[in-house]
Amino acid sequence: MGVKLSYKDFDCYLKELSSKYKIYAPKVLEGKGKFAETNVIGYEQITSFNEIQLDEKSYFSPKEIFYPIRETLFYFKDNEAEVPDIDVKPIIILARPCDLNGIRRLDTIFLKNGFNVDYYYKRRREFVKFMMIECTEGFESCFCVSMNSNIAKDYEAAIRFEEGSVSIKTVDDELITETIVLSEKVVFEPEFVRENKVKVSIPEVGKVTKESFNHKIWMEYTGRCIACGRCNTSCITCSCYSMQDVKLSEDQLIGERRRVWAGCHVDGFTDMAGGHICRADNGERMRFKTMHKINDFYKRFGEHMCVGCGRCDDVCPEYISFSKCINKLNQIIEEENTSG
Ligand code: SF4
Ligand code: SF4
Repeated sequence: MGVKLSYKDFDCYLKELSSKYKIYAPKVLEGKGKFAETNVIGYEQITSFNEIQLDEKSYFSPKEIFYPIRETLFYFKDNEAEVPDIDVKPIIILARPCDLNGIRRLDTIFLKNGFNVDYYYKRRREFVKFMMIECTEGFESCFCVSMNSNIAKDYEAAIRFEEGSVSIKTVDDELITETIVLSEKVVFEPEFVRENKVKVSIPEVGKVTKESFNHKIWMEYTGRCIACGRCNTSCITCSCYSMQDVKLSEDQLIGERRRVWAGCHVDGFTDMAGGHICRADNGERMRFKTMHKINDFYKRFGEHMCVGCGRCDDVCPEYISFSKCINKLNQIIEEENTSG
């Protein structure tokens, strides 16, 4: 069961929710595009329907709302450390099914990977609720169906945006406001995209051989990838970070420890003490990312890391396609199996 609202009533609903929640949705960020005076779609706070961008995929994922690009973990002074407070106003994020599945991967990494949960992730994440944007078409580069990420189940409400109206199904009673109570009741169950234009065939986990690992395909990426890291920063499932200790005084031991997003494609990511670099070659970095997203994560957690949002294909300045890379790898492995 759900309700149907006019855009005007939907704005009233957002206003009611805004007293308790900060609401984020895909939005055109003016002047923040790659080039001067260009725009980009990212996640920002919204207060009305008109601000929500539904016609194009967001360039950035919603992860930075609760996993900041740069975060001070604590301030230190001599032998004392203090963890800064955070804004505890609850958050609602409007996101598509692929991103909700991607956030489940982030939860796995930060909350279910070993014996300890990540305190800093958890304390932000527990204030977040999701309204799933119904997505039945997908976009040009999406391959969520191949990655089993076209359907999401974990959300507090589902929303269908139609010409002139918005249908909402609330799962969480805390999202039921006066506007919802007074609105027209309708039968609304969200539909999901069933087929993408882009399809990938994922190599069977465990079938990745030494030959495919050492295949010349990876050399192709050595020549093409410029290690800009855009594919990492736009990916909903990339979770890696680096630590920085910032000393604020020459004379005193005073400063802060920060964590800052990092990515497996970026220079410095695998630098070690003594000057050793594990993956200096950009093709090796592409191989590492590929294996992690569609093989290694699965071995540990039983589902693939990549959710097929296609953002890495959209943002790469060298037109490197991750979906094509997966298909090429699969073909190599299949040929090995048939010939061997
Ligand atoms: S690897 Fe690419 S397609 Fe997969 S989740 Fe990350 S950005 Fe999306
Ligand atoms: S976005 Fe493209 S060029 Fe940049 S690091 Fe990723 S694969 Fe390499």
